Amino acid sequence: MSHPNEESNPSDTYEARRLEALHRLDLLDTAPTEAFDRITRMAAQIFNLPISAVSLTDADRQWFKSRVGVAHDSIPRDKAPCSHVADTAGVVVIPDLLDDACYRDSPLAESGIRFYAGAPLITDDGYSLGAMCVLGTEPRQTTPEEMASLHDLAAMAMAQIELQHALGRIDPVSGLPNRKQFREDFDDLNKDGKGIEARVLVMVNFAKPEEIRDGTRAMGSHYFEDLIRHSVTLLRSILGKGRTIYHVGEAQVAFFARQGIELQAYSRELAQVLQQQRHASNASFMTTTSVGIAPFLLGQTGYADVLRMAHSACQEAFEMDEHVCVYSTEHDAAHLRRFTLLNKFSSALEHTERLSLVYQPRIDIASGACVGAEALLRWTDPDLGPVSPGEFMPIVELSSMARPVTAWLMETAIRQLRQWQDDGIDMQVSLNVSATNLLEPDFAERLLATLTKYQVAPQAVELELTESAFMSNPGKAQATLTAVADAGVRLAIDDFGTGYSSLSYLQSLPADIVKIDQSFIRKLFEGERARMLVGAMVSLSHELGYRVVAEGVETQEALDFLRKTGCDEVQGYLFAKPMPPESLVQWLAQQQVSEAA
Ligand code: C2E
Ligand code: CA
Ligand code: CA
Repeated sequence: MSHPNEESNPSDTYEARRLEALHRLDLLDTAPTEAFDRITRMAAQIFNLPISAVSLTDADRQWFKSRVGVAHDSIPRDKAPCSHVADTAGVVVIPDLLDDACYRDSPLAESGIRFYAGAPLITDDGYSLGAMCVLGTEPRQTTPEEMASLHDLAAMAMAQIELQHALGRIDPVSGLPNRKQFREDFDDLNKDGKGIEARVLVMVNFAKPEEIRDGTRAMGSHYFEDLIRHSVTLLRSILGKGRTIYHVGEAQVAFFARQGIELQAYSRELAQVLQQQRHASNASFMTTTSVGIAPFLLGQTGYADVLRMAHSACQEAFEMDEHVCVYSTEHDAAHLRRFTLLNKFSSALEHTERLSLVYQPRIDIASGACVGAEALLRWTDPDLGPVSPGEFMPIVELSSMARPVTAWLMETAIRQLRQWQDDGIDMQVSLNVSATNLLEPDFAERLLATLTKYQVAPQAVELELTESAFMSNPGKAQATLTAVADAGVRLAIDDFGTGYSSLSYLQSLPADIVKIDQSFIRKLFEGERARMLVGAMVSLSHELGYRVVAEGVETQEALDFLRKTGCDEVQGYLFAKPMPPESLVQWLAQQQVSEAA
């Protein structure tokens, strides 16, 4: 038999393209599957031989997608007859390895193999990926019928490979080509490109994550699939025939815009379509659709960057009236900042000396006495410097770090309370908790355990939670809150007035304090309406039995007004800024001196 002559072999480029074709299939090192094993068993049966395999020729090894009677899942490529099949894309039959100059001393012959027959696994594009092969321990001849069967089995194995490949590129819910396919098509576009080309990728996000979560909770698990199918059908009808839509994220699809569009006009056009849909759509999916438009230079931008830009614009679009946003580097800066914060914050949890708590006093209006303090988190990163919790907490709260950070602040604040009590200072501390915390099944348990550990009465602690934290999962939050409230921990509704729920709804919460958001206090002297609103909030809260705290009190006028409304407590720069615990002790001492004077 003849062997490929290294020089005349259609060179490295065929091999390079062959390997690329093989790697694209994502088949190497995947688990065995019955679909392939069935074919392999059949081959062994037809030849009545103990060994059979679907063998793929990688750069330096033969890897077996399926094998009967073979102990290893791969063998070195050199001196393997299957590699010869791949190189030549032709059938190889070796009746007796010991008679063959090339294989006489091969590891295969040494292991007792005498017979080999292999048919190539050839792709549509003509690349030979490897071999469908049978092996025996006795020398042997083959019949034309046997070889015809081996060819058929090779074709079946190849059909299976292509089927799996295609299935791996289709989203099972939408039936659309998925992110993998997007990547391949994008790479092809890049290669075909005649130089650099300005193109636009449009991403449509069908719903916010919380809408999917709430919808699924209310309507059942089919809600999400129905939403996707409904939205995709709609989008298809809007885009018309012949356009490829890719399903690139959970609720996100993307498509390339027509070439040569003008960005602003295009974005107005999309905004109009969105608005029409909002009016027309049936009410079964009350979700917010947003559109992100990412202009990019084909040939200069990678597929991942384009997706990231489109995604960033999509997120930004939620904040905009039209829900359509064209990507700009400004948004990217914001995105990158969020990314950096999240990354850096995780190291702060390992170096907790970068975290600290400051305390801002709360003052009883009637007596002028300090009745407690709110613990506020401070973070100083070695590179970024001090970062405001208003900036990092909203991101951290959405990450898996919500739990450890609250654990840290619970421990730190309660230890501080113990310290103050030992020093003869009677204090109450409010802790801010996030939505994620309320969903932790052991939140109440851990809080109560920490109180016990430091021998601090539950009445000395108050939890501040926003309406949205409670509303994100009222059922679970309720259970946690009832447990802590029953133990004597007090609850306050934070940032009151900024959410959408009515106080009567919030009545189901075991809270006894309402903290009016500082935005209302800041606006007090901007007009009569603002003062009426605050007055109404105070009296309504009182009617429902809450104690009322006003936040962000910066001026004497504001304090005077709040006193008139009957507001119970105030907190703000007029009295004190948040401060480290040592400073708070000094501040308290000064207060007593001035009261006595
Ligand atoms: P918040 O709970 O509404 O906290 C009140 C914020 O208003 C604090 O900002 C405080 O420093 C600030 N403030 C207090 N008095 C005045 C005033 O008179 N004028 C003005 N302009 N501002 C005043 P800070 O400390 O930057 O915290 C911002 C937000 O970050 C907090 O809003 C809270 O939502 C969150 N946060 C802070 N610490 C924690 C924490 O430990 N856990 C959680 N989950 N969130 C926290
Ligand atoms: Ca607060
Ligand atoms: Ca607040």
